[in-house]
Amino acid sequence: MSKRDYYEVLGVEKSASPDEIKRAYRKLARQYHPDVNKEDPNAEEKFKEVKEAYEVLSDENKRARYDQYGHQDPTQGMGGGFDGAGFGDFGGFGDIFDMFFGGNGGRRGPQRGADLEYELAVAFEEAAFGTEEEIEIPRTEMCSTCGGSGAKPGTKVETCAVCHGTGEQQTTVNTPFGRMVNRKVCSACRGSGKHISVPCADCHGTGRRRVRRAVKVKVPAGVDTGTTLRIPGAGESSPNGGQPGDLHIVIRVRPHDIFEREGTNVYVNYPLTYVQAALGDEVEVPTLDGAVKLRIPEGTQTGTSFRLRGKGIVRLGSSQRGDQHVRVQVITPTHLTDKQRELLRELGRELGEHTSEQTRTFIERMKSAILGDS
Ligand SMILES: [Zn+2]
Ligand SMILES: [Zn+2]
Repeated sequence: MSKRDYYEVLGVEKSASPDEIKRAYRKLARQYHPDVNKEDPNAEEKFKEVKEAYEVLSDENKRARYDQYGHQDPTQGMGGGFDGAGFGDFGGFGDIFDMFFGGNGGRRGPQRGADLEYELAVAFEEAAFGTEEEIEIPRTEMCSTCGGSGAKPGTKVETCAVCHGTGEQQTTVNTPFGRMVNRKVCSACRGSGKHISVPCADCHGTGRRRVRRAVKVKVPAGVDTGTTLRIPGAGESSPNGGQPGDLHIVIRVRPHDIFEREGTNVYVNYPLTYVQAALGDEVEVPTLDGAVKLRIPEGTQTGTSFRLRGKGIVRLGSSQRGDQHVRVQVITPTHLTDKQRELLRELGRELGEHTSEQTRTFIERMKSAILGDS
């Protein structure tokens, strides 16, 4: 496999200044760093390639030799160029990561607090018309006893003796290409630069505490199961003075005894007697706004659906409402008295041939199917 040109790898001109090379390297190192590219199997190879190119082009002498000989440098006893794997002693990727992402050699910048997610179950009507709920969520906040310092009130927070308050430790490593400064987060203070001799009893020196906090949640009309409401700043507090995270409220709508919902439409199954369905009737059906009169026409079949316009649920963030659909279900009478049985038999004799069009068509089809006469 032929090696790519180092300038090409970094995407810079042959005349690039040391600063331009450094900038190009930082940009690419961020892009391909294996710690931020766990999904991409090629990232590590790319990163090694970029690192190797930088190691040569950032060194005046090595760059000059590379410009003259390319990858086949006879003054290097390393055969066909440089093997990135040979530089493993530079320190792990983590150190380089710290160096570039730790805030230009300084302490880590304030981190944003974590987001929290909380499920909120609401009644069918509450989802339809909106509601306001007060919920209690456990979250991490700054410790009020010590004001977040982690030190027992009255005691002092001292400067870390290991890193002298810088939050980082520096080591200088000798490499085949000269000295390289290796920086990492101070292991004694974990980057805070502080030393606490008497920790606050309430937060054990962390400066943060778990509390249950009441949060008011405005649930707008029209939410459905899965709707997520975001409350900015109501999540976890930052561990080091940054912005708090957000609180995400995920709505779950509890099922209703008679109403069903699909989007903004509401569905109701309405039972009708055989007589009501045959003769027609005016009935009262429940809606979200209370009972509404509905005319059932003569000869209504089971499964017929009637639409009540605008009696559904409001579309989230608008004033438009869906419809309510009333599905009629004709109930076959049971537990008949002798008299009722007799009346139905009489009705049956009376109807005789007057069975419905559908029944007659079906009987015709059935006969031809049995006789194989298609
Ligand atoms: Zn505390
Ligand atoms: Zn320290």
